[in-house]
Amino acid sequence: MRIAFIGLGNMGGPMALNLQKAGHSVAAYDLSPTARDKFAAAGLNIAADAQTAVQKAEVVISMLPASQHVQALYLGKPGQPGLLSQIAAGTLVIDSSTIAAATSQLVAQAADAAGIDFIDAPVSGGTGGAIAGTLTFMVGGSDAQLARAQPLLEKMGANIFHAGAVGAGQTAKICNNMLLGILMIGTSEAIALGVANGLDPKVLSEIMRRSSGGNWALEKYNPWPGVQDSVPSSKGYAGGFGTDLMLKDLGLAQENATAVKAATPLGGMARSLYAMHSMAGHGALDFSSVVQSLQKRS
Ligand code: NAD
Repeated sequence: MRIAFIGLGNMGGPMALNLQKAGHSVAAYDLSPTARDKFAAAGLNIAADAQTAVQKAEVVISMLPASQHVQALYLGKPGQPGLLSQIAAGTLVIDSSTIAAATSQLVAQAADAAGIDFIDAPVSGGTGGAIAGTLTFMVGGSDAQLARAQPLLEKMGANIFHAGAVGAGQTAKICNNMLLGILMIGTSEAIALGVANGLDPKVLSEIMRRSSGGNWALEKYNPWPGVQDSVPSSKGYAGGFGTDLMLKDLGLAQENATAVKAATPLGGMARSLYAMHSMAGHGALDFSSVVQSLQKRS
């Protein structure tokens, strides 16, 4: 298939590479020259701009930071037409960014008017999952649209869920990330408490991993440096899932909770803790660096 892939960040770059490895013809683009150079060196075919990338594409995939980027890309901004006007009718557009469900629905409506299929398909599984092709996709769209996307999603992920109509993938994603944000803080707090009492963080992490406190952070993404290899905490919290991206997701969860009058006290507290961590200058570090706000300094 001819695929245009827009957004070659920590997630998008490896996802695009997996599609190319599976034999698809990928035309990729990112606004950042650093990202373009990195993935050109890794073997991706980089287009001159997004408009060029989507020409002749049968499928367009985007993996951008937040709602405003997705809305501006597809619908345009003052003085700049949106990419939807460049995409042929009949094309399938898959947006895997984590954004507001309302933005997915807005873009889907405009796409539908142009005869373009648009689905939201945010992911979970981190950069490790993006590289290994084992992501979980949470899809919002019709059965027929999901059936079109499924063979491609299978090249990038191991679990594909149909959450409901367009926007439902985003709602599932913010519920998941609210839980993840809370679990990362809880895990950090528990390890920091043990270490403050002289426990070895590796031994304590293993005890909790195999006990009733076990969770994804202990399993695959330990926040304490040196406990696990190849996770952001052992690489100075570089790469991974940025604190500011987690802050964005917790903000989306709180906006949604306000709209539906849901009580999410821990989600609200977690948002504030990541906001304070970001304000202290750590917004670009992986979100597991929140442990630094909870540990004793020597
Ligand atoms: P990132 O910041 O590493 O990458 C985003 C890329 O998009 C950047 O390279 C940026 O230059 C590019 N970009 C922005 N606007 C653009 C435009 N108009 N045209 C082309 N390129 C543009 O972010 P990421 O970690 O790859 O995350 C992407 C999305 O996936 C976010 O919504 C995030 O919340 C979500 N997500 C991330 C992870 C993770 O572990 N990193 C996991 C699950 C979901």
